[in-house]
Amino acid sequence: MQENFVKDIIPKIFLCDSPSGYNDNVNLVLGEILTNLGYKYEILNKKTVLVKIDGKDNSKIVATSAHVDTLGLMVRSINADGTLRVTNVGGPLAPTLDGEYCKIQTRFGKTYTGTIISTAPSVHVYENSKTEPRDYDHLVVRIDEKVTNKNETLELGIQNGDYIFIEPKTTITKSGFLKSRFIDDKGSVCAILGVLKELKEKNEKPKYKTYVYFVHQEEVGHGASALDKNISEFVTVDMGCVGKDLAGNEYAVSIAAKDSGGPYSYNLTTKLIMLAKENKLNYVVDIFPFYGSDVGAAWRAGVDCEGALIGPGVHASHGMERTHLEAIDETMKLLYLYLTK
Ligand SMILES: [Zn+2]
Repeated sequence: MQENFVKDIIPKIFLCDSPSGYNDNVNLVLGEILTNLGYKYEILNKKTVLVKIDGKDNSKIVATSAHVDTLGLMVRSINADGTLRVTNVGGPLAPTLDGEYCKIQTRFGKTYTGTIISTAPSVHVYENSKTEPRDYDHLVVRIDEKVTNKNETLELGIQNGDYIFIEPKTTITKSGFLKSRFIDDKGSVCAILGVLKELKEKNEKPKYKTYVYFVHQEEVGHGASALDKNISEFVTVDMGCVGKDLAGNEYAVSIAAKDSGGPYSYNLTTKLIMLAKENKLNYVVDIFPFYGSDVGAAWRAGVDCEGALIGPGVHASHGMERTHLEAIDETMKLLYLYLTK
């Protein structure tokens, strides 16, 4: 479903830096794509992008979402040698950051490039270069400017609280794999946009009035906290887990029965499993061991809805992630079936 469109929007969305709390630039990209597809949208106060679509039956409202925020870093302080001490935004797998390129975005519009390196970064100099911990106390940003002390870094306009964007390194291979640091959850954002395009092209209305949310700040736990209180069902689209003791894989859509916050809604989850089974989708049902989602955020915010989670299987999540376009396709098919059947 919509493979060319998805391949076309992946670079637009994936290359737009959007760590939790930094929203405006990716909302512009989303807005342009939605407008080109013929959808009106609004941006809520918390910067969530909301699309309202009339259904065949408007007596009930259902919702879907994907989060467009990613992991990132922020300047915690400036070291005496002019490098940057960092704090994490969300939960990147810290050891995988060693050696990554990044950008520092100052609060007043300047951008600098840099590299995330350990505090023992050279094998020729430090006996402990291999054993130095790769955690936030031992990872710094080396800025690509001629700075040797704190004052020179301050003079660049860099200050505590500036965002550091980690290079997303987005690639689609000939074999159909999508590799990027932030497939969670931009893969699902692209899947939802693909479904919206399919609805337009087929001139099909969803079964019920449908609210589509592109959410920020999911990675810090409170993404979908501002959903409309009249929503009765909410299917969030977020990455499926892949690995030890899991059925999920990079070619299938995962349906989560339970995550760290407890079980998802029984009847809605069963309905999704039935749809996947009857339509012979490549799907799995899984328990996500260390995982929270926007359904939990909505429930904690007091939205009285049924909640379920589906999404493409993503390998090495919060590290160097990978999925296959097939998993995004299966996710689109299941979401399309849910919205229209
Ligand atoms: Zn996610």
